[in-house]
Amino acid sequence: MSEAESQDVIESYKFHHIDTSKCRQCKEFSCEEACFRGIYKVINKKTIPKSTVVQEREDHCVKCHICTTACKLGAITID
Ligand code: SF4
Ligand code: SF4
Repeated sequence: MSEAESQDVIESYKFHHIDTSKCRQCKEFSCEEACFRGIYKVINKKTIPKSTVVQEREDHCVKCHICTTACKLGAITID
């Protein structure tokens, strides 16, 4: 997909940002598996997947960046 075609839909939390347009084509959901702090919950896995941040858990993030590496689609950024 070219830059022009991709429609970024960035969902921002306190300091996590997820390009949910990329989650739509995801089949691995590796963010959820990779984060040992349980920060991510992927919803609608069988239809239109979307990664979300469990808001009450966000502050448990240690900024190890395992999740940003695990997400092969590069959907996650952390401030
Ligand atoms: S954040 Fe990455 S790994 Fe998680 S559902 Fe979205 S595209 Fe998939
Ligand atoms: S940086 Fe580490 S602790 Fe924070 S959400 Fe990603 S995997 Fe989880």
